[in-house]
Amino acid sequence: MFYSFCLFLFMNEKQIELAKLRDKVLSCKKCSLYKTRNNVVFGEGNPNADILFIGEAPGANEDKQGIPFCGAAGKFLNEMLATIGFEREDVFIANTLKCRPPENRDPEDSEKEVCRPYLEEQFKIIDPRLVVLLGRHSLNTFLPGVGSITTLHGKAMKRMDGRIYLPLYHPAAALHNGSLRQTLIEDFKKITLILKKIKQEN
Ligand code: URA
Ligand code: SF4
Repeated sequence: MFYSFCLFLFMNEKQIELAKLRDKVLSCKKCSLYKTRNNVVFGEGNPNADILFIGEAPGANEDKQGIPFCGAAGKFLNEMLATIGFEREDVFIANTLKCRPPENRDPEDSEKEVCRPYLEEQFKIIDPRLVVLLGRHSLNTFLPGVGSITTLHGKAMKRMDGRIYLPLYHPAAALHNGSLRQTLIEDFKKITLILKKIKQEN
């Protein structure tokens, strides 16, 4: 108790809010994925980040380590971040589902629905300026009905909430597909321009 009090003294408000939410999510049993998970993957990064990346769901590595994007797709994501001058610690990375679907199957609608409030709470706390939606599940969950990832990838959209949303191909899908990979790398570079515009507007 005393130690957590001391820890809280060195945390800012957003860190405290995220830590409280994390505690709640770590014991979640709202869908059946809790039965097969090894770890809940809450998400990580800078609570004050301008950019929030939203992936699909943890894979095997993430489930083992409790860290988002820590496998091959994560390495690729880190490399792309480096090309625009960012480290993982500068941004926040989360997923639409916090627990791994067995055999990496697609998330089910019911799972996305019950897990979504956690992502919304993270969203509210971090209050990002730019939201990067990685892959079709992230796009469909966050902006249902706007269109497909094939037509919307790389197209920044300003929404009613004043934020910019940028759908991108999922790094795992692009990893072993030459043309998708190149498209993702090119689309990713747009982040620099978008951030510049956001700063100019302020
Ligand atoms: N793919 C995702 O969508 N999220 C992860 O955390 C890892 C791989
Ligand atoms: Fe809870 Fe989400 Fe994990 Fe399902 S996936 S058990 S809703 S944290």
